[in-house]
Amino acid sequence: MSARAPAGGDARRITILGSTGSIGVNTLDVIAQLGGRDAFEIEALTGSANIALLARQARQCGARLAVTADPARYGELKEALAGTGIAVAAGRSGLAEAAQRPAGRVMAAIVGTAGLEPTLAAAERGADIALANKECLVAAGDLLIRTAARAGGRVIPVDSEHSAIFQTLETDNRHALERIVLTASGGPFRTWPREKMAAATPDMARVHPNWSMGMKISIGSASMFNKALEMIEARHLFDLRPEQIEVVVHPQSIVHSMVGYADGSVLAQLGAPDMRTAIGYALSWPRRPHLDVERLDFARIGRLDFEAPDEERFPALRLARLALARGGLQGAVLNAAEETACAAFVAGRIGFLAMAEITEKVMDRLAGLPAAGSIGAVMAADADARRLAATMAG
Ligand code: NDP
Ligand code: MG
Repeated sequence: MSARAPAGGDARRITILGSTGSIGVNTLDVIAQLGGRDAFEIEALTGSANIALLARQARQCGARLAVTADPARYGELKEALAGTGIAVAAGRSGLAEAAQRPAGRVMAAIVGTAGLEPTLAAAERGADIALANKECLVAAGDLLIRTAARAGGRVIPVDSEHSAIFQTLETDNRHALERIVLTASGGPFRTWPREKMAAATPDMARVHPNWSMGMKISIGSASMFNKALEMIEARHLFDLRPEQIEVVVHPQSIVHSMVGYADGSVLAQLGAPDMRTAIGYALSWPRRPHLDVERLDFARIGRLDFEAPDEERFPALRLARLALARGGLQGAVLNAAEETACAAFVAGRIGFLAMAEITEKVMDRLAGLPAAGSIGAVMAADADARRLAATMAG
């Protein structure tokens, strides 16, 4: 592969949507490791509630624009950045401005459907999208991939499994690709009986055995809804048929995912469970950067285990397959229902297993919505699914 000038501008000029989150903070760490202000220009940073961190980040990296998604916090951010010359904006229009500014590469790291509009806006002007915000692809994969392709930008996965597939996918042998195998850690409840899972609290669910991540994705790892989203994400990123997407539980999280080919070969990407490798790859692609992350010591690791996922205890995987089979707007519905149910679980309104029960009921109620031609149709399905799920969650 050779370097190419992205249609959306210089790839060294970067915007981070969601800079105050787990992926955002790791992205700024990677940028610092790769030379910081000598190597990159930061066009815009966005956050939401964490104004102190956003302001500190913007000062440290010399961002041109800082945006809070929360309009009520505009004054606070403005005050925190007074005298710095850094422009400040807020709300939906602020996020749109951040997305539209001329950064060649945009890290999409907002959590949930809230990231869809700004990510699409960045794709529309041909920026390369380093995509962590998987909900964008789950809710509107066809639209986002089509928009990026039309504008001449790339969607480069940041999710570790999809980065692994992106790294091991031989583009010259695309015709010989048989299947992809997404690895799943199994989360904190991998060995728990169903009755114990039914009584799990948010504090038990948020503790991931291998990865340190934001709240929603940590709960999603415990329920395996994160893997369900990743199955749909993979379908859109790599243009796969549903039956080509497999999931295997791999508790060590060392093999980040695999691609199987027609000659029986399986190519895998391995690494320590540290998102900075996938982030660094997405920021530097098509080159590999030098990163100060842990090197694997195989003799110390000793063994790698694999087991079949249990769809009785983790119905999320079955729901992903259902959404893939039904097509249309089922991805958007699954995503919105699960996000709403997850928030209800975190707030203590519903039990752990009710997240999948509610999501399935909402998917059944909203089956048959045709594929979306526009973001408006996606957002309408998203709103309907949220309303239904919220009613069911009480
Ligand atoms: P976090 O919860 O840590 O961070 C989310 C970011 O989005 C923060 O910057 C937050 O701002 C901002 N945000 C929250 N709500 C809104 C809103 N309504 N509008 C705009 N911005 C908002 O999440 P993660 O970093 O863990 O995850 C981000 C995305 O990356 C998710 O889609 C996740 O699935 C994906 N991902 C994460 C991985 C990880 O290791 N964490 C691994 C693979 C994928 P603030 O904090 O200031 O309120
Ligand atoms: Mg992942």
